[in-house]
Amino acid sequence: MLDLPIDLPEFLPGSVWLAGAGPGDPGLLTLLALHAIKSAEVVIHDALVDGRILALIPAAAEIESMGKRGGEASVRQAEITARMIHLAKAGKRVLRLKGGDPFVFGRGPEEALALAGAGVPFRIVPGITAGIGGLAYAGIPVTAKETNSAVAFVTGHGPDGEMPDAFDWDALARGAPVLVFYMGLKHLERLTSRLMAAGRRPDEAAALVCNAATERQSVLETTLAEAAGAVERAGLKPPALFVVGQVVALRRQLDWWRG
Ligand code: SAH
Repeated sequence: MLDLPIDLPEFLPGSVWLAGAGPGDPGLLTLLALHAIKSAEVVIHDALVDGRILALIPAAAEIESMGKRGGEASVRQAEITARMIHLAKAGKRVLRLKGGDPFVFGRGPEEALALAGAGVPFRIVPGITAGIGGLAYAGIPVTAKETNSAVAFVTGHGPDGEMPDAFDWDALARGAPVLVFYMGLKHLERLTSRLMAAGRRPDEAAALVCNAATERQSVLETTLAEAAGAVERAGLKPPALFVVGQVVALRRQLDWWRG
């Protein structure tokens, strides 16, 4: 499919590839993901996959949009896995394409487990997760020598769409100098209050990065104490990452993205 001096694995009929599409920019697709896009007979994608990536799907392939946004009923998830299994058993090359990386807050493990359970051969194609690649497009590294030697990736939603109250917020606040929240907008007020109650400074640097690595990327720099109000005033909408920590300040020198 691609004219490269690399042996890419054959996409076998009757199998499912569970691939990450990266945060947006089609240039961030892996070679394996592009190969899968060009070879698949059916592409089942979620709502976060960028339109420029969907435009790469050959006209002969079937495209099915099966996104789940903001904690919809798990019935939908069951429908998606049933559909993948059905298509694979019918002998199709099925590409399940997800935003970012399929194994980072993306239901990829659940889908792969269902495939394994049904005896459907599958392959995982990792992608660039928004919390790393998307932040890089905003000029924010997730680690830097002078600032942090640990980073935590956290979901702001539990499986039911609610705040993940079972977290050990004190351990999180103490343990990772840089915190990257996925799906953090909805409960931002509570989330920032928890972090401050657990000892993070109200004036600590924070940023919201919306639609990272897409044509609509926007970045709001703020502080832990002011984040929720600033988001409200700016009317920010998902998808957005919320990052807390000194690395945010590096953006002053590292903001390279020009749209
Ligand atoms: N598997 C995906 C994450 C899916 S969860 C990954 O690895 O990136 C969905 C959340 O991911 C969104 O609510 C948002 O927090 C984040 N996200 C995904 N794509 C994004 C983007 N382009 N810009 C900002 N946040 C994004």
